[in-house]
Amino acid sequence: EKPVENHVFEADVARLLHLMVHSVYSDKDVFLRELISNAADACEKLRYEAISAPELLSDDPTPRITLTLDADNNRLVVEDNGIGMSRDDMVEALGTIARSGTRAFMERVEAAKAGEGAQLIGQFGVGFYSAFMVADKVDVVSRHAGSAHAWLWSSDGKGSYTVTEANISDAPARGTRITMHLMDDAKSYTSKWDVERIVKDQSGHVPVPIDLIEKPGAEAERIGDGTALWTKSRSDITKEEYADFYRGLSGQYDEPALTVHFRAEGRHEYTGLAFVPESKPLDMFDPSAKGRMKLYVKRVFITDDAELLPRYLRFVRGLVDTSDLPLNVSREMIQESPILAAIRKGLTNRVLTAIEKLAENDADAFAKLWDAFGAVLKEGIYDDFERRSQLIALSRFRTTTSDEATRSLADYVKDMKDAQAAIYYLTGDNLDRLKASPQLEGFRARGIEVLLLTDSVDSFWVTAAPDFEGKPFKSITQGAADLAQVPKADGEAPVVPETTEAVTGFIAFAKTTLGDTVSDVRASERLTESAVCLVAPEQGYDRQLEKLLQGSGR
Ligand code: ADP
Ligand code: MG
Repeated sequence: EKPVENHVFEADVARLLHLMVHSVYSDKDVFLRELISNAADACEKLRYEAISAPELLSDDPTPRITLTLDADNNRLVVEDNGIGMSRDDMVEALGTIARSGTRAFMERVEAAKAGEGAQLIGQFGVGFYSAFMVADKVDVVSRHAGSAHAWLWSSDGKGSYTVTEANISDAPARGTRITMHLMDDAKSYTSKWDVERIVKDQSGHVPVPIDLIEKPGAEAERIGDGTALWTKSRSDITKEEYADFYRGLSGQYDEPALTVHFRAEGRHEYTGLAFVPESKPLDMFDPSAKGRMKLYVKRVFITDDAELLPRYLRFVRGLVDTSDLPLNVSREMIQESPILAAIRKGLTNRVLTAIEKLAENDADAFAKLWDAFGAVLKEGIYDDFERRSQLIALSRFRTTTSDEATRSLADYVKDMKDAQAAIYYLTGDNLDRLKASPQLEGFRARGIEVLLLTDSVDSFWVTAAPDFEGKPFKSITQGAADLAQVPKADGEAPVVPETTEAVTGFIAFAKTTLGDTVSDVRASERLTESAVCLVAPEQGYDRQLEKLLQGSGR
């Protein structure tokens, strides 16, 4: 008898499990997709490890995922011959939550109202623990490639689990076998017809072959061929196939808003397949959130950490497969590689061009994309000097004349007043408050459009982007407003403001009274109704940026 170790789940896991089991979410099928995706990941990790240690493959070099149905015992088994897990791997991977997305997901679910939480499970992949949506007991037997030991992890999903050393004869020769003891209402997962349909729907493009065994002892039947979708030509792939593949890759359940699939030839050869999601991933503003582009070399998965796209495109999901890098490329080498640098550049251009095309050809679809990811894209205006003007041109804004729609800077410049020299903006965190700002009075009176910027990133990029088509950006809360040159109505001569003796006298009084608390007091065309407003000096930070910087403790 081997000793049994008892473990309690990390608090977050216990919460997640509780949520899974008690959710009334009807689409429980997603658990199968999660387990197949983990099995495929394990096969790809092995493929990668075996490049430098081929002995890990021993006499079984072909990756495979096998589903075994057992209606008599109401069980479903998902097995792979991938990398496997050691005892420590199991405790770490199946007792805690590592993914930042999952944590964000939990917060959203707990904040959501009763029915909505269940909806969210369907929308976002939640991994291994989803097995407990259909099983009241899950056994995981795993043997790490090259190890002489196998381990059994077992749990009823109610707060704790056990880990025991398993008999080698009861374990797969290599990899992981997950046995689900199905709940009574989950019997359909022992039906060949049902399981085959779900696998084809959800996991049809997993790059590892999938076999189905109808009952213990029966012969395996191949239900997924493991061909990598991206190696096919575009014309042979349907929209549905792309969408399925995207869902498998991203762990999201929405449709891709944009699909970019291309083969680069010439100096560097690679295939790129990238998707812009329809909805925001949960971890988009998590500072530790990584990019989600996978790097393959000749169909072998290498890493998802190669930073194939700049940070401001971190919402893009997809992969690059190249034959130009050696298979045994180290992760360190990847960071330095000039080939990778060329791929990064090429891929970034392709993705941005596709987004630009969408903006040109389908304003509504682009408006949705902008709504979801504009705040991230705008980070590129100060991060990516080379593409700054491209990104500024792509940007859309709420303005004092835009109502519910958004406007591009091209729209803005087209409608500028004759004597207007700058693109004016006002930053803040609330659109309604901005609209009510007295700072706008003089601009409204002259029909001058003002950009209303409410994302925190706005305060930063405006300081980095000197101009659009030669027109500088100017904060209306900063410096003198130069409004005197612009007449109140077209055709009229500009009215030079009179500085009467009373005004001069008042200014002198205000200056002495306020002393060092202000650096200047001046008469201005900025206001028409209000008597006075605060502005920031010409040089330096505008008022919103100053607030943000104070808030972040800098
Ligand atoms: P994710 O796949 O996003 O990491 P999961 O909850 O699906 O999250 O899985 C958690 C971890 O459990 C995986 O990262 C992996 O380390 C481990 N794991 C799950 N299934 C397998 C498997 N079949 N083979 C090897 N490791 C696995
Ligand atoms: Mg997973």
